[in-house]
Amino acid sequence: MTDLVRVDSLYKYFDIGGGQNVHAVDNISFNIAEREIVGLVGESGSGKSTLGKTLLGLHDKTDGAVYYRDELLPMRYNTADYRRYSRKMQMIFQDPYSSLNPRMTVGEIISEGLLLHRMMNAAQARDKAASWLERVGLHADHMSRYPHEFSGGQRQRIGIARALILEPEFVVCDEPISALDVSVQAQVVNLLSELKESMGLTLLFIAHDLSMVRYISDRMAVMYLGALMELGPVDDVYFKPLHPYTQVLVGSNPEPDPDSERARKSTEIIGEIPSPVNVPQGCRFAGRCPKAMDVCRAQTPQLKAVGGSQSLVACHLY
Ligand code: SF4
Repeated sequence: MTDLVRVDSLYKYFDIGGGQNVHAVDNISFNIAEREIVGLVGESGSGKSTLGKTLLGLHDKTDGAVYYRDELLPMRYNTADYRRYSRKMQMIFQDPYSSLNPRMTVGEIISEGLLLHRMMNAAQARDKAASWLERVGLHADHMSRYPHEFSGGQRQRIGIARALILEPEFVVCDEPISALDVSVQAQVVNLLSELKESMGLTLLFIAHDLSMVRYISDRMAVMYLGALMELGPVDDVYFKPLHPYTQVLVGSNPEPDPDSERARKSTEIIGEIPSPVNVPQGCRFAGRCPKAMDVCRAQTPQLKAVGGSQSLVACHLY
């Protein structure tokens, strides 16, 4: 499979003054193949959203490289870069309440990108927005209504239509279901899955809910304190996690079947995620890892292939 996105030693630090930095993304390398869905999981504060936004140029890069179809993307986007790349690379945001402009009608929100990119005239953009409303399960006569008139699930459908009307190739879905009622989460995931198939999309799907990530993704990437801990085929990572952090993350995810082996192994993650300002030396998970060894506090483990597995793991046990 051809890579659509390739990330090479990417760093994103935020300067917080006093010579200190938040290490939100700390030397991350991975690839996403065309038409693949990579699910990205990890606790809050692990840097998942920052990674997604940095891939799309919504944050400047601190160091490293992101390639899109082998083209090196700029470290810092100017307006022309943003215009150029945002046609092909879009984001669906977490919060369907705050990501839609309350003063614009739904029709204006969905068609705005087409007009900004001068892809068609106003009448054509209106027609296309109306057809997209229907494509995401709403009605064309909702065009003149405002976001507050819709439920959370409906607003997320509007956010999906706004992102996909430009017919992008790559979409970062930043926790698109976590602000929604459980009853509508599966509907939104199913809609994304259908659109991914019909449009041939490539997705980075960021989520807390590992079961949902398992359902939609081809591979799963596990992030902890700005770094990737494990990356592999989704069922391998979910059912046979190798990294101790993935093991506790998977073990702490609610398992619907109480008799399953995974439910019996359920466990809680001990302690708090350390500050991304003072990242521990060596393995950043060592302070919480039940299997930590002396070498773990001295040397940073690199993400590497593990024999007998298709997964990449950053851990001195392997
Ligand atoms: Fe645990 Fe050491 Fe592996 Fe880190 S490198 S996860 S501390 S065993």
